[in-house]
Amino acid sequence: MVATDQCTERTNALPPQSSGDLTQNTNAMIVRKTRHAGEKERGNDLFVDLHTHIDQYKPDELPGMFQRARAVAVGPIIAAGVTVESTRRCLELAAKYDNVFAGVGVHPSDLTEDLDNIALDQLRNMASDEQVVVMSEVGLDHQDDSPDRAVQERAFRAQLEIAHEASLPVVFHMRFATDDMIRVLTEERISELGGAAHYFQGSQKDASAVINLGCYISLAKPLLRLPKLQEVAQNLPLEWIVLETDCYPQPFKGKREKWTEPKDVPIVAAKLAELKGIGVAEVMEVTTANVLKMLGPRADRVSAAL
Ligand SMILES: [Zn+2]
Repeated sequence: MVATDQCTERTNALPPQSSGDLTQNTNAMIVRKTRHAGEKERGNDLFVDLHTHIDQYKPDELPGMFQRARAVAVGPIIAAGVTVESTRRCLELAAKYDNVFAGVGVHPSDLTEDLDNIALDQLRNMASDEQVVVMSEVGLDHQDDSPDRAVQERAFRAQLEIAHEASLPVVFHMRFATDDMIRVLTEERISELGGAAHYFQGSQKDASAVINLGCYISLAKPLLRLPKLQEVAQNLPLEWIVLETDCYPQPFKGKREKWTEPKDVPIVAAKLAELKGIGVAEVMEVTTANVLKMLGPRADRVSAAL
């Protein structure tokens, strides 16, 4: 199975803006802080790219891509699988490169039928690999041409079960599916695992629902161009924001240098800093600390790459 359109530019309109506030988030914050109270505080002088598809680039492009990232203070990069095969490639990259860590998962848009026991066993085996730090990319996608919703939900729940077995936080894909996503995440006890809503483009209300489950809001380049998302981001507590690029090869953009890469994380950080009226260094410090909190016991491995 080949990754198809799971990462094409998201140009669709945002859901209607909500006036919901974030006052209910205090409880979730206390839960998360308590859970990681034993962790050391440390200065972070690198960004983390929480979510990428670097396994889809030609292998010989990666060393240059990592150099360009490092030159602008992007260190650890998490490579998310979208199929069993791509998850395997992500694990291979994580074994090969010190700055790369892997996510395990089958993307909802890549499902053609229910995940069978062979696929689930393969995912389960890979989830226990020491290079794996998150379950990703899994989730729900309710666009008109997406796979059958019942198939998606069963696959998502089966993968959340694997996340519980392996105690992995879940970096999830949520597109036009907020209500179903919140329902499934609640029923599957996501607050025990933590995670992040990847490539977030939702409303304030959506963000509050995600944060109240103890999950982070992962912002990417749409923040540069979507005024509604900028307004939402401005109001989000920095303590609940993480950053990513969701990068993958983009030949449709023409020149190679226009493709999104992990080196673009600081551009998103700079926009967030501008919106919040704070320094980029603070955005780096806090968002990287947030990733480490989310990763729990696996944070030490990623810290070593900071
Ligand atoms: Zn992705």
